[in-house]
Amino acid sequence: MKYKCSKCGFIHFGELPDGYYCPLCHSNFSYFKLIEVEEKKYNRKPVNPDNPGINRIPEKCINCGVCTKTCENIVGIKDENVCIKCGQCILTCPTGALTPKYDYRKVLEFINNEEYTVIAITSPAVRVGIGDAFGYPAGKFLEGKMVAALKAIGFDYVFDTTFGADLTSMEEAYELKNRLEKKELMFSSCCPSWVNYACIYHPELIKNLSTCKSPIGMEASIIKDYYLNIDEMDKDKTIIVAVTPCTSKKAEILNGDCDYVITTSELAHLIREQNIDFRKLEDAEFDSVNGSSSGTIYGASGGVTLSVLRVLYNYLTGKDLTADEVSIKEKEFYKEIKVKINKEIITCASVSTLYNLEKLLEIKDNFNFIEVMNCAGGCINGGGQILMPQNEKDKLKKERSKSLFKDDIKPHIKYPYKNPIIKNLYEDYLDNPGSEIAEKIFHTKHKNLSRKKGDNND
Ligand code: SF4
Ligand code: SF4
Repeated sequence: MKYKCSKCGFIHFGELPDGYYCPLCHSNFSYFKLIEVEEKKYNRKPVNPDNPGINRIPEKCINCGVCTKTCENIVGIKDENVCIKCGQCILTCPTGALTPKYDYRKVLEFINNEEYTVIAITSPAVRVGIGDAFGYPAGKFLEGKMVAALKAIGFDYVFDTTFGADLTSMEEAYELKNRLEKKELMFSSCCPSWVNYACIYHPELIKNLSTCKSPIGMEASIIKDYYLNIDEMDKDKTIIVAVTPCTSKKAEILNGDCDYVITTSELAHLIREQNIDFRKLEDAEFDSVNGSSSGTIYGASGGVTLSVLRVLYNYLTGKDLTADEVSIKEKEFYKEIKVKINKEIITCASVSTLYNLEKLLEIKDNFNFIEVMNCAGGCINGGGQILMPQNEKDKLKKERSKSLFKDDIKPHIKYPYKNPIIKNLYEDYLDNPGSEIAEKIFHTKHKNLSRKKGDNND
């Protein structure tokens, strides 16, 4: 079916839903005239209604095909029926027909139920993205206001996922140390869209993927496994909500580590719907579980590599890695990061977008460690960030990244292994990175999903 709006000429494909309004001129459905009976082939990328990360509002979709082009040319997925839930299509859809799959109202129900304790854990990129919803300059570092907003919404505790990132660096550096001894290449595993892509399109690389869970997975696991026990809290009445820039994390948590993921854009909805005046909030501080600035830089491309190298350097030399010992070179489609440890040069690459990754794979044997982020520039540009005009995107990415790396220079704890909470946790409970208990809580197995290629893997 094809209907034309007799007021502005807009064409709607498919059945006209009841109460439909023209997305361009807002005339009601009585203005639409049937102009063609047969079904037009859809240009748009299919979104399965069960997709945990992304939702399409069909009434708003004008079948322009931008989502398909984004998926093919920006993300690098050519198969119509494969979705890795990164949400990059949300950022480019011109009508707002694509949104994250909203979970914030379910979270609010738990917050309003006094029987439950609701804990927020916040990813680094949220604090440099949330300001876009409230008129702040691009990349403004608003950690204190973000924490204050979450407390004003009613979260019982607000912890920083930089702590989970520190745990990831401790475990991933240990894993890398072992793989270096075996001369094995290792890929990072904290981006669930990349992991999903590798499991579908590159099963031969699964053996090289780090087995570490992502920072939200590590943080939620240790809260449930350890902190709730020592505080004698009821696990069944505690809800852990990861606040992230990422729609793909909504799929990742189906493993049961976190209870909910809400995106930066959902947080903005929550703030508005609760009538909180974000600009007037006084800065607030995180509750006790915090990370180092090595955790903060996880939000921008290259940050994971630097953090892991800092810990690896300490494992192998007993010393702190300083900035002048690290060589960072911008190459055509990736960043090369090198460091000399004892007599050996460790060569790493940090790459974002799967399109660039495919090029990097041709020279992968030149590296010891490769950090892969699905979204261009890393999580600062995740599909759950606030929508902004396309022509501002490059500036935004730059400013958000600058803001996170600026935090790394501040005189606070820089190295994960110097974080007193991390030190106590290993001393009191985990023993060492890679210990039996650390393996059980923090590591996972990746499944070969290649047989699903071409199927709808939502
Ligand atoms: S980009 Fe948005 S409007 Fe265009 S086809 Fe995709 S969902 Fe529809
Ligand atoms: S780069 Fe970050 S935001 Fe984008 S899909 Fe990966 S984890 Fe999510």
